[in-house]
Amino acid sequence: NQAFSVLGIPVHVMANYPGWLLESLEQGRGIHVVTLNAEMTMQAEQNEFLAQIIKNAELVIPDGAGVVLYLRLLLWQKVQRFPGIELAEKLLQELGQQKTGAKVFFYGAAPGVASTAADFWQQQIPELNIVGTHSGYHSPEEEAQLQQTLAQLQPQVIFVGLGVPRQELWIAENRHLCPQAIWIGVGGSFDIWSG
Ligand code: UDP
Repeated sequence: NQAFSVLGIPVHVMANYPGWLLESLEQGRGIHVVTLNAEMTMQAEQNEFLAQIIKNAELVIPDGAGVVLYLRLLLWQKVQRFPGIELAEKLLQELGQQKTGAKVFFYGAAPGVASTAADFWQQQIPELNIVGTHSGYHSPEEEAQLQQTLAQLQPQVIFVGLGVPRQELWIAENRHLCPQAIWIGVGGSFDIWSG
């Protein structure tokens, strides 16, 4: 798991991110995945708290073209760009193909969007085990309920679509609820999947 510094943020370069994540899943290693783009690195420069969260993430993937270009020049080798939504889709496909039965949870976006996205994926990949969804707009009371649900369900793959940097902060604050899970910030992916 080799990491290279992009403006002080360690970015991991590997051939098969979904494969590595599935291994982590099998071993019950908790992982926070950040898909890094230029906008995020700029936000991190302004926000030390966010910077620390990204540095603490077990997996930071080059998402934006700027980050990839930087790494190519630094390493003098081809570095593949992996947008967050593509990583999420690839991971869902692998979970289905390998029939892992891993519990998946979708959190974020306007009311109804995450559940529509979940229906879409469940139809595409019947082997998936999506155990729950929750919208990203709610009261503090509902948030407490969501935290309780997560602690009880113990999903193993949790997609969080609240936008940057809200989703990264939220994951850092809540990942202790499901310490063995893979947590991924997916931005507006639920909106795209729900059509
Ligand atoms: N969002 C949310 N709760 C909020 C603010 C935003 O669930 O309090 C959702 C919003 O509905 C959208 C996603 O977060 O689905 C942000 O999407 P965007 O494409 O802006 O993400 P980014 O560009 O930051 O990856």
